Amino acid sequence: MSTPSLLILAGDGIGPEVMAEVRRIIDWFGSKRGIAFEVSEDLVGGAAYDAHGVPLSDATMARAQEVDAVLLGAVGGPKYDALDFSVKPERGLLRLRKEMDLFANLRPAQCFDALADFSSLKREVVAGLDIMIVRELTSGVYFGEPRGIHKEGNERVGINTQRYTESEIARVARAAFDLARKRAGRVCSMEKANVMESGVLWRQVVQEVHDADYPEIALSHMYADNGAMQLVRAPKQFDVIVTDNLFGDVLSDCAAMLTGSLGMLPSASLGLPMENGRPRALYEPVHGSAPDIAGQGKANPIACILSFAMALRYSFDMGDEAARVERAVESVLADGLRTADLMGPEGGTPVSTSGMGDAVLAA
Ligand code: ATP
Ligand code: MG
Repeated sequence: MSTPSLLILAGDGIGPEVMAEVRRIIDWFGSKRGIAFEVSEDLVGGAAYDAHGVPLSDATMARAQEVDAVLLGAVGGPKYDALDFSVKPERGLLRLRKEMDLFANLRPAQCFDALADFSSLKREVVAGLDIMIVRELTSGVYFGEPRGIHKEGNERVGINTQRYTESEIARVARAAFDLARKRAGRVCSMEKANVMESGVLWRQVVQEVHDADYPEIALSHMYADNGAMQLVRAPKQFDVIVTDNLFGDVLSDCAAMLTGSLGMLPSASLGLPMENGRPRALYEPVHGSAPDIAGQGKANPIACILSFAMALRYSFDMGDEAARVERAVESVLADGLRTADLMGPEGGTPVSTSGMGDAVLAA
């Protein structure tokens, strides 16, 4: 087996700061665990615009298609707000997602015990929480045609179209069932089949894929509005949730607030398998470039570190090594170390970005 390859695109704002801590962990794996990665680094977002006049160069795009996994920091910042939409930093990320065809967005919502009082909900509702939301990322109402703002008679009409093909639904359903096999074995599919045709098809196709290939998984269906309520009322009933692009956008942000800070949340976006059997994959923290704290050593690197742990698990089949990283994070939090975003009324030991990196490495 060839050396696993990673492309690091640190991006803008706090992106390079949190990615520096991940770099140290990658090096640690090479020197202490004998697990070497072939790492290349390149520019994305505003950093790429400054250097090349585009938020993602063709050469970088080509490299992203070759490597086993892409690790991304964050893109954007006030400096680029006035740019034309076609060269905005965010377009670099959208191009990666689109050309790599990353149709399954995985957002875990996991509550570390040490942070259970941080949630918007009570400790007993969230302690031990471990949900995986799988959001369809490349189709649905954000992409469907026709779309636009038209004039009808003497008023304007805004139009978007929710459109899903059978194969688009089936492939994201498979991603969810495959994940559930390695977790608690339960999938809840969410749509609005009571009022939407695409929801009716969604429910049918998810059920068909289940019955044909995943009969051992416990599958349930829920209307997405009820799902939102259940997520806040009793989130621990869920293992894997699979849903469309729009509902997934909303539900995953809702689930994020169950667990505390934005600085804690990792994500993975997966596509179809490459020739070597690994899925096309991009891993990134959920948070953005946080211009308000950039350059001050305040950023929490844990979301980015946990995104690398997801890469170990989903791209490289190194679940034990991923768990090693997650346990290190857990123990550092249990020891009371806190970046500013995690500092609550109960206090803790304040640490900087690199201080948190030091502690995770030591653990
Ligand atoms: P985007 O548009 O790129 O999603 P955003 O405007 O939604 O960005 P973020 O950049 O994620 O927002 O920042 C939102 C808030 O959360 C900011 O106040 C920021 O400082 C804080 N924040 C985000 N990420 C972190 C982090 N890793 N550590 C500490 N604070 C963070
Ligand atoms: Mg945002």
